[in-house]
Formats: sequence, structure tokens, C-alpha cells
Amino acid sequence: MKQSQMLIPTLKENPADAEIMSHQLLVRAGYIRQLASGIYSFLPIGRRVLSKVEAIVREEMEKIGAHEMLMPALEPSELWKETGRWTTFGSELMRINDRHGREFALGATHEEVITSMVRNEVKSYKQLPLSVYQIQTKFRDEARPRFGLLRGREFLMKDAYSFNESYESLDQTYEQMFEAYSNVFRRCGLNFRAVIADSGAMGGKDTHEFMVLSEVGEDVIAYSDTSRYAANIEMAPVNRTYTKSDETPLEMEKVHTPDQKTMRDVADFLGHELQKGLKSILFKVDEKFVMTITRGDHEVNDVKLKNLYDAELIDLASEAEAREVVGAGFGSLGPVDVSEDVEVVADFAVEALVNVSCGANEEGYHFTNVTPGKDFQVSQYADLRFIEEGDPSPDGEGKIKFARGIEVGHVFKLGEFYSERMKATFLNDQGKATTMIMGSYGIGVSRTLAAIVEQYHDERGITWPANIAPYQVHLLSLNPKKEDQKELADALYNTLIEAGVEVLYDDRKERAGVKFADSDLFGVPLRITVGKRASEGVVEVKERMSSNQYDLEQEEVLNYVTNWYKS
Ligand code: ATP
Ligand code: MG
Repeated sequence: MKQSQMLIPTLKENPADAEIMSHQLLVRAGYIRQLASGIYSFLPIGRRVLSKVEAIVREEMEKIGAHEMLMPALEPSELWKETGRWTTFGSELMRINDRHGREFALGATHEEVITSMVRNEVKSYKQLPLSVYQIQTKFRDEARPRFGLLRGREFLMKDAYSFNESYESLDQTYEQMFEAYSNVFRRCGLNFRAVIADSGAMGGKDTHEFMVLSEVGEDVIAYSDTSRYAANIEMAPVNRTYTKSDETPLEMEKVHTPDQKTMRDVADFLGHELQKGLKSILFKVDEKFVMTITRGDHEVNDVKLKNLYDAELIDLASEAEAREVVGAGFGSLGPVDVSEDVEVVADFAVEALVNVSCGANEEGYHFTNVTPGKDFQVSQYADLRFIEEGDPSPDGEGKIKFARGIEVGHVFKLGEFYSERMKATFLNDQGKATTMIMGSYGIGVSRTLAAIVEQYHDERGITWPANIAPYQVHLLSLNPKKEDQKELADALYNTLIEAGVEVLYDDRKERAGVKFADSDLFGVPLRITVGKRASEGVVEVKERMSSNQYDLEQEEVLNYVTNWYKS
């Protein structure tokens, strides 16, 4: 491809809103452009890298017998109402009406669509197991679209769905998908980990996320320093026994604590350690008010709370709700004599405490010398807090450490969540109608692209791994006005193209410095420069990633390139 004829608008400056490297570099190098918040165009070289990732995904899917299809992006609301997700998916689901006022969702995911198709078309156990996938644009009205392609409102996803006769069969498909995902991300050159995850709004139980290790990741992975254990921090159980304090419980006292709002403020004001205070947070769990109590130095984990109640929706209560139900604002909440409309649950660590402080459910007041069991009761103790670095690993081996990760893929065992609600059944080998067992498997294709750039860049630009690069060779003719340079570069271009090599040819009438800088920014793995020594038939080859460079005779170039890409 001749660069003089291509739309590759490069920028010298970083776009003002681009906080992370992948966002900055993909924009600056002319791969993507933002249309509106979280909505991007892929320019020609951007489309090419996307296609490279897609091709890897397709190969790995077809290898395990999953076949490609394409479903509509417009999904009738009736389907989402069958599963209840018209409500539970919340405001992330983009909704529109047609001219007759009928409601549609812009496809955020396709469990409903595929299940409605399979329930009509698949009748017998002989047709199972069945796996299909698509690569398609998804729409989600994210609360905080940001970081360029990492969290968009319109993005490219590969979504696969499996239908099985039994849970054993699902386990097999899941294993195959897991392997295929590992292959995809390995072939993309990524340093990643598969971690145990929460199934969220999708229903089902067993699920893993594929996390690319990166400082800019929004997820935190809790992993063992000695074993293979790794989980999303949301999910990691705290397996810890707490020894009961041997202090003698004292008489509870009410203390005036004007303007002391945070846990830290109150602890300093009362002169005790953070962990001698109780943190009380008011949640709305479905329609019920629940107050969680954790130790002052611990953080409540809302995913654990949601799972504890097997709830559909969970949210923080507003401060106005707290005032109405409990009688005080956020800084003064506590479990002592709390309204009967509020259920109190506490983390296991709380049970071991004696003589601690907590809010008095009265503005500007706290209780001190509070002892659980004596001064307040809880409906239950449970594992409610986030795991922390240094906690024992849940598998019993080693201690927990944290790393940040970008979730690029997600595999779920859905079980019967969708098939039951949507009545997707098949006749088993006894002729009996049986509910299908499902799985769903997503890869964020556009997010993966950004994750690759996060791991492959230096101070000059992108350093694409060979499998993903938009081109294999970036051919530069430094001064196309010089006849010998233009001739040699043209000849090399033709030779390489005829041999099937993907070449980007910088034939522009630009200064050499501009060409080198752009080339480094684009990140094509091999650069071939035709310059001063063109008259001798000698060119320079430079590896983008290692910066190694060599002079080559014109005749050696094709061999060099093909061998380089073979190894
Ligand atoms: P997240 O926790 O990051 O919001 P999710 O759990 O909502 O992700 P899934 O519903 O599992 O994501 O979607 C499958 C894959 O699609 C994810 O693993 C991720 O790679 C990608 N993805 C999800 N949301 C976005 C988004 N807003 N922008 C880009 N990719 C996304
Ligand atoms: Mg999400």
C-alpha cells in the first residue's frame, strides 16, 4: 500500500483526553479517531490490526468446532423481558423505539437472540453439542467510557454460545473454549492470566476472566505468591480465622463527635486505631435495606453481599434514604438499636472485636466500648470484605498479592439460566423434553487491540508483535525525488508484494526525519530504508522492537523478510 494514497493522519501531540499509552498512541499514529465519547472509527491501518486479531480468533474458534454466524444488532425488547434482563441490565442497555413505538435494545450481548433461535431450530439431542460465534459491534451505555478502546460505548466483541445436553458436556465445551482463549491471547503476544471471576448479571456459576497484566487495568487480580491460584478481587474468598479479643467488655458510652465524618476522622478523634472502629454501610439489596458492618480497616465487597442474598440488584442507599430509614447521614450510621426495617450483616472479622466504636444513628454522635453480641445483634456473620495483600491464599497455599489486569475475555458456564426462562428444550435419547445447558464466551476484540499496545510500546511509539502488525514491512524511500532511490524502492515494493508480503510503502514527499518518526510511531516490525546507498543496491533493515539494524543487498531482502517472519 502506498502511504501517499492512504488516510494515516499522524499527530505530534497527545490528544488532551488520552490518559493511557494505548489511547495516545493509537490516535497519534492514525489508527483510530473518536467520533463521540466511547465511540471510535478505525482508520485503514486500524482496520488492518483489528482484522489480524479477528483472524486469530476465527481460526481458534473453528478449530474447536464453533462456527461463525452474524446476528442482528437490533434486539426486540420482548426477548429481554423473557429473561428479566430488560430490567436487570439497567441503564447500560441502549434502548430505542421504532416508528410504531416498539422497543428494541441495541445489542449489548446476544444470549436472548441466540437462545430464541436455537429453541426454534434445534429439537434433538442428536444436534448437540452446538457452538456458534459471531464478531460484531456491541453497544453498552457505560457509566464511564474512557481509556480509548478499553472501555467504549460501541465496541467490537467476539461472542460465542454453546448448547449442551448435560453439565458434563458443558464442562468439555468450557475446557475447549478455555484452551482456545489461551491460544488466542498467546498468539496475540499477550502476558495474561486466567482468573476465577464473578458471573454478574449473566446468571450461571463457573466463570473465568482472561486478564492482561497491566498497570492501567481496571480490575485487580488477587493471586497467590506460591501457587497457581488467581481470582478477580471481587471473588476471592477470605479464608481466615480471627482470634477473639481478650479485652473485658466495658459499658457502652455515647460520645459527641461533631464534624467527624470518615473512619479515619473518628478514629483520630477518639484516639484509637482504624480497626477499632466499625464501618457501617447502608445498601439496598433488591427492595430491602441491609446494613453491612466491617472492621474499620476493611472494605465491604458488594459482590459478596449480592451473592449472599442471591440478589438481582444491589445499590448503595442514598444519604436521604439513610436519614429517612436510620435517622442519620452516612458518617453516623451504626448497628446499635438500628431501625427494624434494616437487616444487619457483619463480616467474620467483626465477631472477634471487643470495645470498638460505631456511629450512633444520630447526627454527630458515636458509641464507644461497643461489643458485638452484647450491644447489638446481627442476622448473620459472613465473608463480606475484600481480600487484602498478605491474607492467606484461599487455596491454602501462600499469601495473597495484587496485580492489575485488563479483562480481555470471559468464559461463563451459564447452565439453565436462559434456556429455562426462554424454554429452550430438546428431546433427549429417551424422547423426553429436557432443558438445554448453555455457556457463553466473550472476547473484547477492540479492547484486546488496546491491551496489546499497552504491552507493546516504547517512548517512540507502538512495537507490534509480528502476528498483529498492520503490515510486515514498512518500506521507506528517503528521497523519492532521487531517481535511483525511487527506482530501487519501487522495485523492492513490487518484489515483496508479488511474494505476498504485506508492505506499507512510504513514498511521500516528506523529510527523512518525519518518515522515521512516523515509522517508529506506527510500529511495523521491520523497516527497510532505501537511502544514500541505493546506487550500490544496498538498503538498511531495522527491527522496530530490538532496534537492531543491518545493511542488506537488494537481492537478499525478500529472503531476509520471509525467514524473519518464519522464525
Ligand atoms: P467489564 O467488567 O470490563 O465491564 P464485562 O464483564 O461487562 O466487562 P462481558 O459482558 O463479559 O464484559 O463482555 C465480554 C468481553 O467484552 C469482556 O471480557 C471485554 O473484553 C469486552 N468488553 C466489555 N465491555 C466493554 C467495553 N465497554 N468496551 C470494550 N470492550 C468491552
Ligand atoms: Mg461491563
